[in-house]
Amino acid sequence: GAMRRPLVLANWKMNMLPAQVQPYLDQVIPEVEKDTAADVAIAAQDLYLAEMVRQSSQSRLMIAAENAHWTDDGAYTGETSPKALAQVGVHYVLIGHFERRKLFNETDERVNWKTKAALRNGLKPIVDLDEDLTAYEGDDASQVVLKQLAEALDGLTETDLKDVTIAYEPTWAIGSGEAASAAQAEKSAALIRTSLANLYSRELADRTRILYGGSVTTENAADFLSQKDIDGILVGKAALDPEKFLELIDIAQ
Ligand code: PEP
Repeated sequence: GAMRRPLVLANWKMNMLPAQVQPYLDQVIPEVEKDTAADVAIAAQDLYLAEMVRQSSQSRLMIAAENAHWTDDGAYTGETSPKALAQVGVHYVLIGHFERRKLFNETDERVNWKTKAALRNGLKPIVDLDEDLTAYEGDDASQVVLKQLAEALDGLTETDLKDVTIAYEPTWAIGSGEAASAAQAEKSAALIRTSLANLYSRELADRTRILYGGSVTTENAADFLSQKDIDGILVGKAALDPEKFLELIDIAQ
């Protein structure tokens, strides 16, 4: 989308050991300075975030958490406070990633609470909508995603939405090596945008970023990024290799 800045987002998931983080950042940060047409972010495990923020603070690279709790603090052993993430200098937080929904009991209601908590604390949420295969093959494929969208954003105002990015990910395409076709992904992204226009306004819909995620590679990225309603990519596996991540950033220019 011409009026929206593309975002290239790496999701490291529970990968990368301490010894791998430094060389990755050393390779990526200087290059990110050269390619200025797209925003670039890396989502990493919490334990790396403070150091990543410190190292990237003078650069265009932005840092994302992969999850955060829906309250600011309290007796929630093992959880991460969105308030603490914001104070550490983290910019973005992934909310409702497919793996969290599937493996860690992330309901639409919790996604909504977490989105609100992120915004309340000044973190920019990247709200993940996952479309499962059964839904995809069914008659009302789009309804599943649109229901997730409406529930994730329940109670949020148009002003709140200015800091929200939406990520559309067909579950069968995540980590499978089998990406959606660019046309399929564009169709869903366009539906999501129409839904945002209905829920809020055409103006809001036109300035909200919608990412595609699911087996994006250096081979298929350009197809996705050239679609009218796709404003960036959420990349797992391919982004674990800094060379490939840099290529993807380059493609988004
Ligand atoms: C993801 O982590 O959301 C993802 C899309 O992973 P992959 O690129 O490996 O499919």
